[in-house]
Amino acid sequence: MNNRAELKKARRVVVKIGSSLICDQERLSQGRLRALANQIAQLRNRGLEVVLVSSGAVAAGVRKLGLPQRPQTLILKQACASAGQVSLMTSWEKALGTFNLKCAQILLTADDLSDRRRFLNARNTMLSLVDLGVVPIVNENDTIAVEELKVGDNDTLGALVASLVEADLFINLTDLDGLFDSDPRLNQDAKLVTEVSEVDQKMLDAAGDSGPMGTGGMFTKVRAAGRLAERGVPSLIANGQARDILERLINGEELGTFFQPSKKHRRAKQYWLAFAARPKGRLLIDQGAAEAVVNRGKSLLPGGITGLDGLFDAGDAVTLAAAQDGTELGVGLTNYSSPEIEKIMGLSSVLIESVLGCSHSDEVVHRNNLVIFNGQQTK
Ligand code: GLU
Repeated sequence: MNNRAELKKARRVVVKIGSSLICDQERLSQGRLRALANQIAQLRNRGLEVVLVSSGAVAAGVRKLGLPQRPQTLILKQACASAGQVSLMTSWEKALGTFNLKCAQILLTADDLSDRRRFLNARNTMLSLVDLGVVPIVNENDTIAVEELKVGDNDTLGALVASLVEADLFINLTDLDGLFDSDPRLNQDAKLVTEVSEVDQKMLDAAGDSGPMGTGGMFTKVRAAGRLAERGVPSLIANGQARDILERLINGEELGTFFQPSKKHRRAKQYWLAFAARPKGRLLIDQGAAEAVVNRGKSLLPGGITGLDGLFDAGDAVTLAAAQDGTELGVGLTNYSSPEIEKIMGLSSVLIESVLGCSHSDEVVHRNNLVIFNGQQTK
């Protein structure tokens, strides 16, 4: 689906709903939730499968716990998320129930998504819910995720979920009309960008900060759209307050900002490696190996490895970095553990068996389990 006219063909869509859309003066607005639920029901009636990613737990918790504003400390944010998530889901259940739709809650952490087995398990659960006619509602498990292990914002989470369920469209609803060429809150002449063919660093640098209640500003929205484009999935950023916005977007109306999918996109596993996997260590590789993996589509052999950092097992994700200057070149799944690599690095693959007593494979990182960064920082 390379243009808006083709959006009518969408079968499975992930819709992300920002806190500012469903909270009115720091309180969950039942009216706004119902209006959105109505639209979701319309999509379902058209035969579309819908997965929601809903923010609003922290915002709802702020009021519920009687705090004067969104807290800054992690522990208070977690307390708010924990209290607010109940209100959020109760409100969604009520709103969707008005239109005879059932919902289910799925709370994820970055750790869940970085473990390939749990990642695939989450997908199976979501897809079977969708098959049962239920609307899965995903949020980050803020209550248990510590800062360094957080996805951090629901734009990024939404893009991961869209890839996870192999959605053919991601709609990011917010309280702005889309991406503007400058900050519309500061510049009255700011113009809406209706179509983006490629997200580059300049565009990311220009994207603004977030408002008072949510965490994701335009930066995370644009980055999420750019990442999904690399997965071959189109995205829209649009104003969730506009009447019948979901249906109108699917009908191809020129509202919001449309991000075209990239023509040369990553396969599902590569996307997961680039954006969800959390490397447990680093392999330093010489210039010849770097050239082979980056430019010639080759696997990484033990002979090209000059050093390593971290303690990891076979099957873990590791970063590949240039031994020369530490530049990160990509991420891959290693066939050997760190103690094993210490013994075989610098050697020809034919010696693996005699050194280790067995050989799982000639490659330390096979090409099929490797993603190369293409200049844009991915983590
Ligand atoms: N998970 C957070 C919440 O439910 C929202 C994060 C975000 O808005 O990006 O409040």
